[in-house]
Formats: sequence, structure tokens, C-alpha cells
Amino acid sequence: MAQAKKALNKNGKKNSRTGARAARPSVKTYTNYINGEWVASSGGETFENVNPADTREVIGRFPLSTAEDMDRAVEAARNAFDRWRRVPAPRRAEILFRLGEILIRDKDRLSSEMTREMGKVLRETGGDVQEAIDCTYYTAGEGRRLHGFTTPAEMPNKFAMCVRQPVGLCGLITPWNFPMAIPSWKIIPALVCGNTLVIKPAEDTPLSTYNLIKACEEAGIPPGVVNMVTGYGETVGAALTDNPAVRLISFTGSTETGRVVASRCADRNAICSLEMGGKNVIIVLEDADIDLAIEGAVWGAFGTSGQRCTASSRLVVHKKVYKKFTQKLVARAQSLRVGNGLDAKTEMGPVINADAVHKILGYVEIGEREDGATLACGGRRLDSGEHARGYFIEPTVFTDAAPGMRISQEEIFGPVTTVIPANSLENAIEIGNGVRYGLSASIYTQDVNRAFHAMNEMYTGIFYVNSSTIGAEVHLPFGGTKATGNGHREAGTQVLDIFSEWKSIYVDYSGKLQRAQIDEVNL
Ligand code: ADP
Repeated sequence: MAQAKKALNKNGKKNSRTGARAARPSVKTYTNYINGEWVASSGGETFENVNPADTREVIGRFPLSTAEDMDRAVEAARNAFDRWRRVPAPRRAEILFRLGEILIRDKDRLSSEMTREMGKVLRETGGDVQEAIDCTYYTAGEGRRLHGFTTPAEMPNKFAMCVRQPVGLCGLITPWNFPMAIPSWKIIPALVCGNTLVIKPAEDTPLSTYNLIKACEEAGIPPGVVNMVTGYGETVGAALTDNPAVRLISFTGSTETGRVVASRCADRNAICSLEMGGKNVIIVLEDADIDLAIEGAVWGAFGTSGQRCTASSRLVVHKKVYKKFTQKLVARAQSLRVGNGLDAKTEMGPVINADAVHKILGYVEIGEREDGATLACGGRRLDSGEHARGYFIEPTVFTDAAPGMRISQEEIFGPVTTVIPANSLENAIEIGNGVRYGLSASIYTQDVNRAFHAMNEMYTGIFYVNSSTIGAEVHLPFGGTKATGNGHREAGTQVLDIFSEWKSIYVDYSGKLQRAQIDEVNL
């Protein structure tokens, strides 16, 4: 997706959803949040946020910010840091608990605005907001923990301990597919640890992040501690990654953009935490409960129209149940109701924008022509009737795919899944691990021994047994191996290791010089 969007932008055309357009008087104009004030971009330009289920609906106009706006936000966060880091962590957490209450109060509105903004069905946007609530309550609880540790010192009358200190000013860059959950995964731990921050939300979903920041303001987070600047990644995103005052960049998005962000951070020794792509696998063994596996595959492949980094984009199925599985899968995929996510009957919404349609249909063509896999169902854009004004694509299944095909290797980020036959558990594991990503994997089997064997052998950050590749919970670490990340984990208590730095403290109460790192025994 990032690739297609950037190619268009580089050719001088504005992105189909985010291009600056002439003002429409009836549409609300939103502003950036800098130093506790809601302010327009210094350049005065805006971009439109459009409903992907019906592009006639403009959700709002958001600031097409400049590097200067970003620098002002960074300055505000820098100035607020000393005061905020000195607020005791339990007090910081109290504000965050209030934020959780506000999100609960407004959950229905926030969910429906998110569905209008990015298309996924209400059940899923409700889940997105709920994840932000769960993250807020769980992580705010850290205000009364933020555990360090004590440990024996090498010498007598000497005390050793380790405490967490905030990192400083954090830059957060987020994608559009979980437009409130992912910002919350970064904002809440950053704040509880005593950092200040600037967030740059995705171009396609500024409203959900705006709603979260508005709730932060209402909860009483002091001016300058949280700042939001909207606009293009190449301008304001880059201005954030390049600002020397920003100590840490936490990024979630495509592997391609993540690599750019990481290299910019490396140039100036900034800390960088990356959460990127996936090509996740469900392994279905011959003893699996096939109906359960079908439900998991359909939910994992077509939930959020396949636009999750944990989407089940590969289904590796034992050849003994391959035919039965694929027949049932295709029937289920064909029966899915595609439409506007606001309609309670809809099972799958649109994809995010025109570039996504282009990219996904491009992969359908690659699958058929270049790879030579069988297009078992779907593969077309839906563009008539109720689908005429939106970015709808049929749920798509490729069968008889080989592990090395592009559709089996590359992240498509759309409602397309690839079924690959396997001869054995070992063969399935080899195929499962044979991609450049390592986010999530799952196995369907009734055999506990084989489940544990796969759990041990799959080199991913997340693993499920008899469940789909999606469904992470906030109190467990989230992240992946290989090209999915750079070794960090969000969520759980592990996220605290991103947003705080360790300080080792030695207290020598012997009253004399005791030399460590010297080869002498002080007994
Ligand atoms: P996606 O294609 O899923 O939108 P991207 O990786 O392109 O994923 O975008 C994720 C986030 O990174 C967005 O907020 C986007 O604006 C931002 N971004 C894109 N390019 C850059 C860049 N060069 N520097 C910093 N941020 C960027």
C-alpha cells in the first residue's frame, strides 16, 4: 500500500483520498493539537478525509501540516517534559484512568466515526476502541508498579538496584488500520513512563486519533505533554523522525517505510521501535476440526478486509483434508456479505483507498498470470449498486499455490488469502517459516504433541493453537521476528522497555573506597 501511494505522490499526483482539495463549506475543519491549543497548519492547507465505503462523504478536513508545524509541536513537547516526568507515576496514571472512562462513555460514537473513516464493520471498530480502553486501564495500572529490581552487590555494605527513567520526547507514527488502538498502545505507555510526545497519525484516519487526543485533553493531560500533527508522512513524518530533540520514534506501518524511518533514526542515534508487516500462516493438519479451522481462516483472512498486519494471508493445509477444506473455504468466502460497515448485516467492509484497490487487484493478476495459482473465488472489484461509490473487493481465495510464489510471499494487505498444500507437519512448518516476516502463526490440530512441536518451531512473535492468527490481547507482548520488527515488543509490560530506560544504581555505605571490576576479593 505504501508503495503504491508513494509512487503516485512522487509522480506529482495527490493520493486519491488525501489530496488537498477545494474547501467544502459544510464539512468540519479540524486542527492540530500543539501545546494544549487547537491550531491550524501554518501553511493554511487541509486535506480531506473521505469515507471509503462512499467517497461522496467527506468526514472532515484536516491540516496538511508543514515541517514548521511539526517543529513547533516538538518544541512544546520538549518544554513540557521536565514538569511531566516529575509528576509521580501514580498521579500520571490517575489521569489515564480518567481517559479510559471517557473512551467508555463515548465508545459508540467513536466506533461509528471510525467505521465511516476507514470502513471496517462496527463490531470491529468497537473492538478497536475497546482495545484502547483495555490498553488504558491495563497500562495505567503500571503507574503503581513500573517495577525495577534490587540485586546483591559484589561487595559488602553496598546496595544495588535498577530503576526505570523516561526516555524523553517520543515521536509516534501510526497507520490507519487500527486508528485508535495502535495510537493508544504507544501513547499510554509513553505517558505512564513520564515521557511527552508528538503523534503523526496516518493520512487516511486522522479523525480517530483526533478523538483520542481530544479525550486526553478532557482527561486533564497538561498542555504540551501530548501533541498531534496531521499530514503526509514524507513531510511531517520525516520532520518528526529528523528532529534532534526527539529521542525515540515508535513506528507502526509498512516494512518499506519502517526501513526509511529506522535509517533516519540511525543517522542521529535516536531509539527506534518498529512494528511492520506480516505474512501470517494458519497450519491446518489432517486431524483438525475443519469447520473450526474454516471459521478461523475466514475471520483471519477477511476481517478488516484482510488489512491487519496479523491477517491470515497463508493457509497451509495438509493434503489429506485439502480438498474438503478448500471447498468449504471458498463457499464461506463467497457467502460473505460485503458492504458498508455501518450496516449491521455487513461482514466485510471496503478497503482503505483507491491505491489499495489498485495494489490488491495487481496481486490478483500476479497470482493468476505470473504465479499460475488457481483463483478459486473473488478477485474482482465490486463497483455497482450499493458498492458503486466505495472501494470494495470480493473476498478472494487462491488455491494450489506454491510456497515461493509472490502471492505466498508478499504482504497483499487486502481480502486475499492463499492456500498451499502440505505433506506433513514438518513440511507445513517449513513453509510457514519460509517468508521474510515473523509476526503471527497458528495451528489447527487435536494433537497436543504436534501443537507444542509447532509452537516451538515457528519463529514468530505470536502463536495460536486452534484459533486464528488475529486476536492479540493487550496484556501480552505484541510484535514479530525478522522483517516484522526490530526486536521490540508493544503491549504487555514489555512495552515499558521501549518507553523507559534502565538506570542501574549502586549505593556504597561502607565508608571506604571499594573497587569493582578489580580482581580482588573483599571478604
Ligand atoms: P501504510 O501503507 O500502511 O499506510 P506506511 O508505512 O506508508 O503504511 O505509513 C505508516 C505511517 O508512516 C503513516 O502515518 C505515514 O504517514 C507515515 N510515513 C510515511 N512515510 C514516512 C516517512 N518518510 N517518514 C515518516 N513517516 C512516514
